[in-house]
Amino acid sequence: MPSKPLRLSKSRYLSGLQCHKQLWWRVHEPDAPELALTPGQENLFAQGKEVGERARGQVPGGELIDLPFYEYDNKVAATREALNRGLPAIYEAWFLAEDTYAGVDILARDPGGGGRGHVVIEVKASNSRKPEHLPDAAVQVYVLRRAGLQVERAEVMHLNPECRYPDLSNLFVREDVTALVEGTLIGLSDELEAQRRMLDAPLPDVPIGEHCSRPHDCPFIPRCWPKLPDHHVSSLYRIDRRRAVELEADGYATIYDLPSELELSAIHARQVKAVQTGRMVVEETLKKALTQFASPLAFLDFETVSLAIPRWAGCRPWQQVPVQFSVHVEERGRGLTHHEWIADGPGDPRPALAEALVEACAGARRVVAYYASFERECIRQLREAVPQLGRGLERIERRLVDLLPTVRNHVYHPDFGGRFSIKKTLPALVPGLSYSDLKVRDGEVATVELQRLMLAGTELPASERAELRQALLRYCERDTWAMVKMLEKLRGLVADQLELF
Ligand code: SF4
Repeated sequence: MPSKPLRLSKSRYLSGLQCHKQLWWRVHEPDAPELALTPGQENLFAQGKEVGERARGQVPGGELIDLPFYEYDNKVAATREALNRGLPAIYEAWFLAEDTYAGVDILARDPGGGGRGHVVIEVKASNSRKPEHLPDAAVQVYVLRRAGLQVERAEVMHLNPECRYPDLSNLFVREDVTALVEGTLIGLSDELEAQRRMLDAPLPDVPIGEHCSRPHDCPFIPRCWPKLPDHHVSSLYRIDRRRAVELEADGYATIYDLPSELELSAIHARQVKAVQTGRMVVEETLKKALTQFASPLAFLDFETVSLAIPRWAGCRPWQQVPVQFSVHVEERGRGLTHHEWIADGPGDPRPALAEALVEACAGARRVVAYYASFERECIRQLREAVPQLGRGLERIERRLVDLLPTVRNHVYHPDFGGRFSIKKTLPALVPGLSYSDLKVRDGEVATVELQRLMLAGTELPASERAELRQALLRYCERDTWAMVKMLEKLRGLVADQLELF
C-alpha cells in the first residue's frame, strides 16, 4: 500500500518558499538542535501570542477554537462546526485542503456577499506590514477557498507605531491586502505540489545563496555554509557581501592574501595591517582622541525591555524602555564607586531610575558609554517620561562621550575579527576580562530576563527572583567595568606610544 503523503501547513509552506532543503530538514528532522528556540525567539513568540489574543477584541463576538496545537484534525472539525453556527468570527480557525493545513488568526464574516463571504485576518506583532506577510495570507486564502469557503477579503492586522499608552484604542492597524494576495496566489498551487513531491524524495540539493537570510536567517546556515578560514575577507569590518565575493573571486580569500596596493578605508587598512603583522595597531591620533575623557568620569550602561503591548505612559509598541543601569564613577580621593538600579516590579520604572541616575552622575564631568547613541536615546526617553528631572538628564546627555569610535578609529587588534562590539574588543584589549564567567552573558538574554523579573509576579519564586536579580546586576556592572578597564588600557597604549602585540 503506498504511504500517505506528508501534509503541508502554512508554516511549512513558508519555510519551503524560502528553501526546499530547509523545509525537508524541518519535516524529516523536527528535533534537529538547530530548530531549538533561543530565549529571544521564545520571548517573541510569547509576545506574539499576547498580541494575537488582544487582536481578537477588534473583531468581537467570535469563538476561539481552543484545542491543543497538535490536534489539527479536531481543530478542522471544530471550525467546521462553528462555521455552521453562523458566528460573526472564529479565532484560530483551522482548515484542510489538498493535504495542506491553514490556521487563520481571525476569520470574520464579511458583511457583504449575502452573509456567505469571509475575511481572512492575519495578525502580526510587528509595527508595519512586511513583504513576507503576503504569502502567509495567500496560502490561507488558497486553502480556505479549496475547502469551499467564500473568501472575499484578506487583511493584515499589525501593531500601530503611533499608538501611545494609555490610549490603546489605536493599538492595531488593519490593511486590506486582497489585491496583493490575489497576485500572490498565482503559482501557489504549483509550489505546494512541488513541496509535496520534494518531501517524498531524498534531501534536495539546494546551493547556498542570498535566500539563506531572506526573509529570515535560516537555522541551518552552520550546516550548509562552509566554515570560513580565520580572517576571511568577509570579516573585513562591515564589508559589503558583494565586495567580499569579488575579492575572493580575484584570488584573495583571506586578509593575509590582500596585496599592499589595494585601496582601503582607514579602518580596513588598520585591520589588514594588524592581521598581516599579527600585532595590535595603535594610531598616534589615539592620544588626542582620549583628551575628551576628562576626569571625573562616569561610565554608564542601560539595559532595556521591549514590549509589544506598551504598559507605561507615553510608550509605543516595541519601544526599548530603560529599566536598569550601572554607573561606575570616579570620585576624588575615593577611586571608583559603583551605582546601580534595577526594576523588579510591573510599575513604570522610569521615574525612580531617572532620579537614581541623575544622582549617580552628578559629580561627573564626562559620562562614558560604549555605542553612546543607545544611551542618548534612553536618556531622551527618560526626559520625556520624567520632565521634572529634565535638566539633570539633559546635563547627562550633553556630557556623553562614546568609547566605541575611540577604539574603532584608532586601534585594531587581530582578535577583533572585524567587529567592535564590547564583547569582541574587551577580551582582546583586556585579556582575562570577558563575560564568560557570568550567568547572564548577552543583551538578548538580559532583555528577556529583565522582563521576567518585572512581569512574572508571584510565578517567580522569591529565591529564583533574588538569584535572577543578582545575575542581571552583575551583567550590567560588567559592561561599565569593561569600559573602565578598556579606557585604562587605551591610556596605557598612549603612554607607550608603540604598536604592541
Ligand atoms: S542554509 Fe540556505 S541552502 Fe541551507 S537549508 Fe538554509 S536556506 Fe537552504
